[in-house]
Amino acid sequence: ELHNTVMDLRGNIRVFCRVRPPLDYELSRLSCTWTYYDEATVELQSLDSQAKNKMGQQIFTFDQVFHPNSLQEDIFASVAPLIQSALDGYNICIFAYGQTGSGKTYTMDGVPDNVGVIPRTVDLLFESISTYRKTGWKYEIKATFLEIYNEVLYDLLSNEQKEMEIRMAKGANKNDIYVSNITEETVTDPNNLRRLMDLAKANRATASTAGNERSSRSHAVTKLELIGYHAEKDEMSVGSINLVDLAGSESPKTSVRMTETKNINRSLSELTNVILALLQKQDHIPYRNSKLTHLLMPSLGGNSKTLMFINVSPFQDCFHESVKSLRFAASVN
Ligand code: ADP
Ligand code: MG
Repeated sequence: ELHNTVMDLRGNIRVFCRVRPPLDYELSRLSCTWTYYDEATVELQSLDSQAKNKMGQQIFTFDQVFHPNSLQEDIFASVAPLIQSALDGYNICIFAYGQTGSGKTYTMDGVPDNVGVIPRTVDLLFESISTYRKTGWKYEIKATFLEIYNEVLYDLLSNEQKEMEIRMAKGANKNDIYVSNITEETVTDPNNLRRLMDLAKANRATASTAGNERSSRSHAVTKLELIGYHAEKDEMSVGSINLVDLAGSESPKTSVRMTETKNINRSLSELTNVILALLQKQDHIPYRNSKLTHLLMPSLGGNSKTLMFINVSPFQDCFHESVKSLRFAASVN
């Protein structure tokens, strides 16, 4: 069987695949053979025919496939409806999954002259909020930025060393989760939010110095909570958007100790377990097995909406990691 199918729309989880282009200085690196059959189907062939036979399934179907010439705006066109529904009270999670160098950060943050999902989300949110204002809805945005490394939480808006714990909220919104001691900023204009994002990015970069693997082994979570009030109607809407640049999915270098390796990868492997459990509609979803899945519990499953980008590199030397990533997402049928 050469065909692997991922949900067209399985519950509220969608999976998009994005294959990045080779960069100018990478043109000497051999690429696998990629064939794009339609908007949702991609075939990957190794240049090495033996490997090709060994790997078996080569054709993968996703909710959508983006080829190397896809533009950041093409990607965002498919993301925008989710952002809109967060303003209507949904909890949204958007993940970028893939090996280091596959384009996760490019997809989420982008580059200054070609911005990605997160800056476009900010623009769309403020545009929509000003449209909603005409109908009497007023919104407040609360932003937090955190990093999970080796199952420890770090506040990206603060340089202070502090204990941060994931807690269940008491009171009305009792299913909600919060992080103790985290810096939460209320933002009212897009420039303010962009400045906070830059600060978070700078703090993340400072924390990963050369010689440690933190930058590729940590998860960065940008959370925007959207609280809407309509005074006349006496109505309220609370939604959220979680934007997650995941740790690299590649197997760690052998120099890393086994126990450490397990812990460093726990949030990523438990996330895949949670996603698979949700896709299979299992009764028990193992949210509490890792920091990342516990943190995102109110935003994964139930009435929430999840989008996962599977980012892959085009190259022959990435073939095995690419197949692993594509298979993970296509493994539930
Ligand atoms: P990751 O975050 O998965 O480690 P990056 O997003 O840093 O990978 O991508 C690796 C390199 O490839 C970066 O220089 C990035 O700017 C570039 N890149 C990734 N995806 C694209 C794309 N779709 N178009 C152009 N350049 C890209
Ligand atoms: Mg990155």
